[in-house]
Amino acid sequence: MTDRLRSAIAGFPRFEPGHVWLAGAGPGDPGLLTLHALAGLAEADVVVHDALVDARVLALAHPGATLEFAGKRGGKPSPRQGNITDRLIALARANLRVLRLKGGDPCVFGRGGERRWRSPPPAFPSASSRASPRGLRRSPSPRSRRRLRGVSQALILVTGHCGDEEDTVDWAALAQTGQPIVLYMGLSNLEQIAASLMDAGLDPHEPVAVIASATLPEERILISELHRVAAETRALAFEAPAIIAIGAIVKVRAKLLDLAARVPEMVA
Ligand code: SAH
Repeated sequence: MTDRLRSAIAGFPRFEPGHVWLAGAGPGDPGLLTLHALAGLAEADVVVHDALVDARVLALAHPGATLEFAGKRGGKPSPRQGNITDRLIALARANLRVLRLKGGDPCVFGRGGERRWRSPPPAFPSASSRASPRGLRRSPSPRSRRRLRGVSQALILVTGHCGDEEDTVDWAALAQTGQPIVLYMGLSNLEQIAASLMDAGLDPHEPVAVIASATLPEERILISELHRVAAETRALAFEAPAIIAIGAIVKVRAKLLDLAARVPEMVA
C-alpha cells in the first residue's frame, strides 16, 4: 500500500463500537468497492448482508467478524425491513460495530432512504459501475469522449417492479424524454414494459442491452432490440439480477469494443 493511500485511509471516519454503518457493496466485483466500504468490512464485528453481495466481497471481512444473512432464501420472501432494523439496533446495543452491507448502492432501489441512518458515503452507483467492465460504459479516452458526446444528456433509472399497485410508472412520459432508460428488476415485466414504451412512440428497433450478474463470474450480456428483447431473454433463460439499458447508449458499447480492438494497431 502506498503511503498516500495509507494516510487517506487514516483520515476516514472511525468505525466506533455500538455504531451501524450502511454501505453499498457495488455490483459484485470487489474491485468496485469504495474504500469506505472496504474499511468498514475490515473493522466490522458483524456484517449483515443481502443475497446480492458477492462471496468475494464478504471474504474481505475481518476474519473474526460474524456474517449474518438478511436476504431472500430459497424462494422465501425477504425478512421484513422492520425486523432487520431491530436486529441491527440489538447488535449495536451489544456494543458491536455493525456493517449493513447491501448490493450496489443502498439508496438505488435499496430502501436505504426508508431508514433513519447516520449513513457512510454511498457505494459506487450501480448502473454506471455495473455497465462498465464488459458492459456499456467505460471511461473513454479523451478522443473517444469527444466522439461519443451527444449520445444523451440524462439517464433514467427506473424500477420495472413496483412494490405497490398504486405506485405505477408513467412509461409514456419516460419514452418521450428520448433519454436512455436503465431498468432495474425489469426481467419479469419486460414484455409489457417494452410494449408500453413502443406504444408511447419508441422505435421497435431501439437498441437494448440486458446485463445479468454484471461483474460476477457468471455475467451474461445480450444486445437486442425493443421489439424482440423480452422473447430473447426468455429463450436464453436470462435470470435476475439483471439491468436492462434501453436507448442509443447501447451502441456506445460496440464503439468502445471496436476502439479497444484497434488499440494494438494504433500504438504499433
Ligand atoms: N441497490 C441495488 C439495487 C437493488 S434492486 C443496486 O444499486 O444495485 C435489485 C436489482 O438491481 C436487480 O433486480 C437488478 O436489476 C439490479 N442488480 C443488482 N445487482 C446486479 C448485478 N450484479 N447485475 C445486474 N443487475 C443487478
